[in-house]
Amino acid sequence: SSIYGLDRWGHGLLSVTPEGEIALSDPLHKDTPRISLPGIVRDLEARGVHSPLVLRVTAFLEAEIKRINEGFRASIARTGYRGSYRGVFPIKVNQQAQVVDRIVEFGRPYAYGLEAGSKPELVIALAHRLPEEALIVCNGVKDAEFIRLAILSRKLGFNTVIVLESAKELDTVIEVVRELGEEPLLGVRVKLTHRIGGNWAESSGDRSSFGMNTDQLMQVVDRLKDEGLLHCLKLQHSHLGSQVPDVNDVRRAVGEACRYFIELTREGAALTHLDLGGGLGVDYTGEKIASENSVNYTVEEYCTNIVETVGYALDEAGVAHPTLVTESGRAVVATSSMLIFNVLEATHYDAPSAEEPQPDDHHLIADLAAVKTYLTPERLQECLNDSTFYRDELRALFRRGYITLRQMARAERIYLELMARIKALAPQIETTPEIDAQLEKLADIYHCNFSLFQSLPDVWAIDQLHPIIPLQDLNVEPDRRVVLSDITCDSDGKIDRFILADGISPSLPVHSLPEDRPYYLGVFFVGAYQETLGDLHNLFGDTNVATIELRADGGFDLLHEQEGDTIAEVMSYVEYDPKDCIAAFRKMVDGATSEKKLDASERKALMAAYRDSIEGYTYYE
Ligand code: PLP
Repeated sequence: SSIYGLDRWGHGLLSVTPEGEIALSDPLHKDTPRISLPGIVRDLEARGVHSPLVLRVTAFLEAEIKRINEGFRASIARTGYRGSYRGVFPIKVNQQAQVVDRIVEFGRPYAYGLEAGSKPELVIALAHRLPEEALIVCNGVKDAEFIRLAILSRKLGFNTVIVLESAKELDTVIEVVRELGEEPLLGVRVKLTHRIGGNWAESSGDRSSFGMNTDQLMQVVDRLKDEGLLHCLKLQHSHLGSQVPDVNDVRRAVGEACRYFIELTREGAALTHLDLGGGLGVDYTGEKIASENSVNYTVEEYCTNIVETVGYALDEAGVAHPTLVTESGRAVVATSSMLIFNVLEATHYDAPSAEEPQPDDHHLIADLAAVKTYLTPERLQECLNDSTFYRDELRALFRRGYITLRQMARAERIYLELMARIKALAPQIETTPEIDAQLEKLADIYHCNFSLFQSLPDVWAIDQLHPIIPLQDLNVEPDRRVVLSDITCDSDGKIDRFILADGISPSLPVHSLPEDRPYYLGVFFVGAYQETLGDLHNLFGDTNVATIELRADGGFDLLHEQEGDTIAEVMSYVEYDPKDCIAAFRKMVDGATSEKKLDASERKALMAAYRDSIEGYTYYE
């Protein structure tokens, strides 16, 4: 199992049992026995919760909330920082009620709040009773209704901060303030010029679409002064980005944010909170390097760098230390969910075969078959070249009508047999990159029961890497290399980059598919953005979701089960009324029955098949 690099990316949450099964460990209670993940899946299957399945583990979520809050607390205590930390969870990163509810629950001891980037998210935030000191930070474009709700919510005790995204937004705020006669809690979004590396570089620097530049800031400050509202400006928001790979970028950007904080204070703003937005990265690959899917720092280091940079800069300027706010989403939720699916079937690009050329076959088939007579480790490259050349020539002959389908099938089987022999010999030699590349093309395709577009949209859209590993048989040497193909009819629906111990690989080592039981694969750390951004390509809907709590005795409790979309549900999303569809289908069935094309029992079976499909899961059952 060491080839997968699990020790590196498993974050102490995942390990392998002597039986070769992936196990989950409770990060908060080290004495709790670990629990077999395939065991959980079997148990859930028995209860009718089938794969594909998103499994959420509450302990993983609680541990991350604790880590970030206690990380800031510890840094504050260690450095003598004279302010506190009040984090907020950005709802957009995972809006599912089961997730947000638990974040509020686990965050309660830390007065952890919520960030809303839209009116619907504010409505969700306000449905939670938050601790007295917790914040609700409102970002995004806001209309009068949004602003009215934010201001009035303060009457219920919410600390709802309206972060001004533009000078124009202030006009609306002023109108609503006049209308209500109530004072708002205001923030201002400052655009930092320091550009941060990684996949989300566009969200930082001069050309980012959010926040105000120096000129716009001055306009806002002057306008607030004129309106007698400058004392309401409490929070400076300077979003660092997302998945920031290099901790020194954090330091530099925070340093720049502090300059604005100091200057705005000098302009008379009564700033009390410095909000540094998102950016705390997740080490998906476990490499601990500054790259798109890894980071060169820990949560603790991130906290320390922020606390130290702010403390130092403000001390130098003689400005009081503000309450620190961050809006980490990814780092809070990514590890808490995993996607689990079964493999449906395999396409092989090598296969043992006893096929021999026949007397009336084209001579190229005999030439192809003859390659095995000189196949040795030393001549492996030559044999690869020859076999591929003969196979391609034969395909050209088939296309022109010179050989039959049966003869071509024979040639393909001989070719697959040669590939199987070549693959078996490869470990005996030091292969060249050319041979490696050719052998990678021989990886099997494992067809899997999930939709990349619904469940792993960032893998498709931005080449996000998530750890992927078989859940079972890890005590047996894998005997196949595969790429994964999803259940959509889209050639983009495949995964061909995998995190392994020795780097990123175009294929995943797995086992031949067992005949008597399902073979499960797990994709880890999918809790951030994936559930939210997923789409209905080919009308594959939401998967089943199970939220589990790890028990002290090594068992688990199923806290919540969210059934995946039925076909009727996805039909309604695209504005079909399932009842109308049943009626239309019935009409056709009745027509065919009247014309005696169907008898009564066939009619019944056909209607039942249509209805059962409509009521069922969108995935392979
Ligand atoms: N806050 C704001 C304003 C954002 O735009 C984002 C996402 O880009 C976040 C917070 C969350 O960032 P992350 O998930 O990297 O912590």
